[in-house]
Amino acid sequence: MTNALQLSDPVSELRGIGPRYLKYLEKLGIKTIKDLLWYFPFRYEDFSQIKKINELQPEENFSIIGTVKKINVRKSYRRKIFIIEAIIEDNTGQITAIWFNQIYLLKNIPPGTTLSLSGKAKAKGKKLILSSPSYEIISRQKLGKTFYQEAVHTGRLIPIYSETKGLSSRALRYFIKPLLKLAQNIKDPLPDFLLKKHKLMGLQQSFHQIHFPSSLLLAKKAKERFIFESLLLSQLYLLKTKRKNALLSAPKIKLDIPLLQSFVRSLPFTLTEAQRKALWEISLNLEKKPMNRLLEGEVGSGKTILAIGSSLLTVKSGYQVALMAPTEILAKQHFNRFKSFLQPFQVKIALLTSSATKIYDDGLEGKISKQSLNKIISSADPIFPIIVIGTHALIQKNIRFNRLGLIIVDEQHRFGVKQRKQLIAENANKSEIPHLLSMTATPIPRTLALAFYGDLDLSILDELPEGRKKIITKVVLPRDREKVYNFIRQEINKKRQAFVICPRIEETEINDIKAKNLLTLSEQLNYEVKAVKKEYKKLTKEIFPDLKVAMLHGKMKPKEKEIIMSAFAKGYGGSSIDILVSTSVIEVGVDIPNASLMLIEGAEHFGLAQLHQFRGRIGRSHYQSYCFLFSGSPNHSITSRLRTLVKCSDGFRLAEMDLSLRGPGEFLGTKQSGIPDLVMSSLLDKEFIEKIHQQAKEIIQEDPSLKKWPLLLTSFQEFSQKIHHE
Ligand code: ADP
Ligand code: MG
Repeated sequence: MTNALQLSDPVSELRGIGPRYLKYLEKLGIKTIKDLLWYFPFRYEDFSQIKKINELQPEENFSIIGTVKKINVRKSYRRKIFIIEAIIEDNTGQITAIWFNQIYLLKNIPPGTTLSLSGKAKAKGKKLILSSPSYEIISRQKLGKTFYQEAVHTGRLIPIYSETKGLSSRALRYFIKPLLKLAQNIKDPLPDFLLKKHKLMGLQQSFHQIHFPSSLLLAKKAKERFIFESLLLSQLYLLKTKRKNALLSAPKIKLDIPLLQSFVRSLPFTLTEAQRKALWEISLNLEKKPMNRLLEGEVGSGKTILAIGSSLLTVKSGYQVALMAPTEILAKQHFNRFKSFLQPFQVKIALLTSSATKIYDDGLEGKISKQSLNKIISSADPIFPIIVIGTHALIQKNIRFNRLGLIIVDEQHRFGVKQRKQLIAENANKSEIPHLLSMTATPIPRTLALAFYGDLDLSILDELPEGRKKIITKVVLPRDREKVYNFIRQEINKKRQAFVICPRIEETEINDIKAKNLLTLSEQLNYEVKAVKKEYKKLTKEIFPDLKVAMLHGKMKPKEKEIIMSAFAKGYGGSSIDILVSTSVIEVGVDIPNASLMLIEGAEHFGLAQLHQFRGRIGRSHYQSYCFLFSGSPNHSITSRLRTLVKCSDGFRLAEMDLSLRGPGEFLGTKQSGIPDLVMSSLLDKEFIEKIHQQAKEIIQEDPSLKKWPLLLTSFQEFSQKIHHE
């Protein structure tokens, strides 16, 4: 490798990387030399104990160093493969190693070559053999001289990388090893005082130890260093953004107490204590400073009414509101609720999704074209304070609000960081940004919130409205399926309705699960993927031919979905639907009080927090509700995980359990994470996160421009750029 290589050069500059490897590397997200150097192993295989040949045991990992005594090839005629057989010896004995079809070995490792070999010894009759071991040349004779080489693939802690088809860890090691030389020229962005204070490993040593560690302890220290750096940059970013936002102002929304009082009085129920408190926090915030608030609340805790209240204050102050929901069904439901709760207040409300645009004004609802609606929203004159409720359609390029005062994002975890930012950025003026209220039913523990959002304001709804009955939850064994079906029929005869939820598992997800070793191979083979269609057919034809069963899935047209949803929402009898078979599209938000039964197929495929969300679709009235969890897996740890739902109905606790059982990546979903995988595992460590947060604060206090630490500044700028392009 020449020194002329730059970190920013494409990997194609490296020796041995041709078009084929380029394609594979790109699949792993590796384009530049820098990407490759920062592609860290996720675990290590320990081959560091070098054994003697006479110490080898069957089925044990081994590493030996030996010399090739003899090597030859024979052809197995029946199976048409070449078998390369080498006799390896050390001073304690001999052993046979075999490889298949790698004829070049004859030339590559001729007798006299000293090899380091790693793998598993297999018993063949009474003898042990080494079948396809990893090997590496340690020394060889050439022109009368001996050449030595350091082991990369054997006889040490071997890094294992996430691989892709055609690109093995072995190849990655081969490409990465020579880069460590290049890494010596990279300057450490972390200033000395930080390294000392937090006892962090220096950059160069860290590169070496994370890829080719001399011990697991040092590998861990190296990893910790990279995690520290990455989290420090993101905390600096969050703090700086906060400072910047503090300089901006947001529309001043009048704290109109009589208006709030008459709103609260107009409701058909009394607000819970938690709702009152949150509404007050929001109202104060809207008047005083730019709001960036997360409203966290248990499913069914009544977040929507707070969205409605804050929207009312905002439009009455002469500003517009945009509410973004993750699905059309939910947007439509919000539109209807806003209409009915705000009916006494003469407010204009619009619905904007990809399939429908509607407007509600003066108690009348009508269709409107997207263009006309857009004109109304964007026109400066006359100012038209309106609440626009929609889906992703709200962030289309041509939609511009003229006087946006408040953005509400419902089920915010369903949206990417980018989409949320876009909605804000596109509608900010030079000096004013809209207020932001994010709502979620997935409670995010404080440490995670801190890591992802920095110090954002929180309002928490930790109580449910009165009169809700506890949902009875059961994990159902396959032999009791029949009983459950009979029970469902009885309840439907009592005029209740049921949801049946099926996981829609894509091929890639199955591979993913396989890769993570969550299910054994035989479990996977036995596992039956319950597509909604199949379940629908079964239920209509065999189980409930006499009942009205309908289905709902993501591939249906919005119009079809809407027809089914509104039929289901009608309640019992007439043209309504008794059983709705659905994918997880109904997961979020939908409110159908008469539905009191839920059956979840393949429950093991969902996280606890998500199952709790599904379950939140029922138990919304005074009827006793039931949730049945079916699992396709007999695995004990899975059923016992599901059983926690039987006992626990506290969403916050379930979220924490989920987090520790499945890790933050799974918990938050890939969309949420702007944070690299490497860092994910550390997000559970409260003290670590707090420490970095504190450190970032001190740095910003000392020099917010970061000019004092030019290398840190450069890294920070790169980091911010990456975030903006995500
Ligand atoms: P979520 O927090 O899951 O979004 P919703 O806002 O959909 O919950 O509220 C669930 C149901 O509870 C709705 O039908 C809503 O009208 C009702 N509700 C909200 N607040 C109260 C309350 N204080 N008392 C009684 N019912 C309420
Ligand atoms: Mg909701």
